[in-house]
Amino acid sequence: MSIPNSEALFALAQTLMPGGVSSPVRAFKAVGGTPRFIDHGKGAYMTDVDGNRYVDYVMSFGPLVLGHAFPAIVEAIAAQAARGTSFGAPSPLEAELAQAVQERVPSMERLRFVSSGTEATMSALRAARAFTGRNKIIKFDGHYHGHADLLLARAGSGVATLGLPDSPGVPAAVTADTLIAPFNDLGAVAATFAAHPGGIAAVIVEPVAGNMGLVLPHEGYLQGLATLAREHGALLVFDEVMTGFRVSPGGAQAAYGITPDLTTLGKVIGGGLPVGAYGGRADVMALVAPSGPVYQAGTLSGNPLAMAAGLASLHHWDEQAFDKAAKAAARVVEAIEEAARGAGVPVVTAQAGTMFGFFLSSEPVTGWQSASRCDRVAFACLHRVLLDEGVYLPPSPFETCFISAAHGAEEVEKTVQAFSKAFTYLAG
Ligand SMILES: *Cc1c(COP(=O)(O)O)cnc(C)c1O
Repeated sequence: MSIPNSEALFALAQTLMPGGVSSPVRAFKAVGGTPRFIDHGKGAYMTDVDGNRYVDYVMSFGPLVLGHAFPAIVEAIAAQAARGTSFGAPSPLEAELAQAVQERVPSMERLRFVSSGTEATMSALRAARAFTGRNKIIKFDGHYHGHADLLLARAGSGVATLGLPDSPGVPAAVTADTLIAPFNDLGAVAATFAAHPGGIAAVIVEPVAGNMGLVLPHEGYLQGLATLAREHGALLVFDEVMTGFRVSPGGAQAAYGITPDLTTLGKVIGGGLPVGAYGGRADVMALVAPSGPVYQAGTLSGNPLAMAAGLASLHHWDEQAFDKAAKAAARVVEAIEEAARGAGVPVVTAQAGTMFGFFLSSEPVTGWQSASRCDRVAFACLHRVLLDEGVYLPPSPFETCFISAAHGAEEVEKTVQAFSKAFTYLAG
């Protein structure tokens, strides 16, 4: 392999790692073709090892709100690296980042840093179960909360109601207490509570669902969930690993005016390095060791490099940067609608701050059942044309597109043109 190229690298990687990747969606299975191996990123762009340059709408699946290799983040990481990469002891950066998070998400009266969103959700639910003395949790069909065993359950026809595992290797016993409800249907949640009186510890929800494509909550839905949870003595857990700092600078809870009992964060708070956090009510978090008996720990938790990157990221992610990115997202969404209309292709779009998405579908999308009926084949085709035109979308119809403050007029215009071409191709 003298000249590195994506095809050769993918062939090699497949001999070494399952599917050739470190996380499944990256393998391009949903869109076909060879995944592009990325050489470097700068601002709104990624460049692959073959020398192709793309306007990036993946942004590492959310974290990079300021774009790739944002100078202040690069400097913060370099400066901290020179002072030590990990201590296994507290450092001042943890309290600093905790304060920066709390300023933006005041419902997090106490919080704990972990290293991924997966760790954040499983730890939050452990605390919720301990606090309530109950075992059952409600999660929603098509919502993703990381890959912890207890959360790898979702509705796939009738198996969902039984809480059968989605993935081989997850014992049925571990998901037996995971109850599934359809998103945007308060009646179903009320019925689930009624069926398990005094048994449900928590409702965990992506307040704006971003892991089945982008699906917004109906008017009053999140408030309804909060009310139902309170009535039944269960905790409301907002999984804001994706929506945190992206739906609004204060996350979905600020945008919708809801105060959840617990919140999980990830992605943006690490500025592109591995971080997660969970937190919320002081009385619940007081149960977490060492202040309480609920065990949860991590060798690299609160890692100084990640804390420094997160701090630099939040510091520069102000109202102005947010508004710039959100406006750019609105322009791209408008362009998608125009291009689709012009080509006579039915499309359903959604935007929540700096996240946006679209389904190639002619019916409203309100949850997983309707999302799953979108045209996946047409999406794969669209994805390929866009790549050829230098626009990099998530390689799945069920992922959200992410924009950054680095996406300027030039990048947006390039995107508008690319969508116009892609939809014309699709119609032809
Ligand atoms: C990405 C994501 C997770 C998992 O985070 P990881 O850091 O990948 O473990 C959990 N919940 C939501 C809503 C996510 O989008």
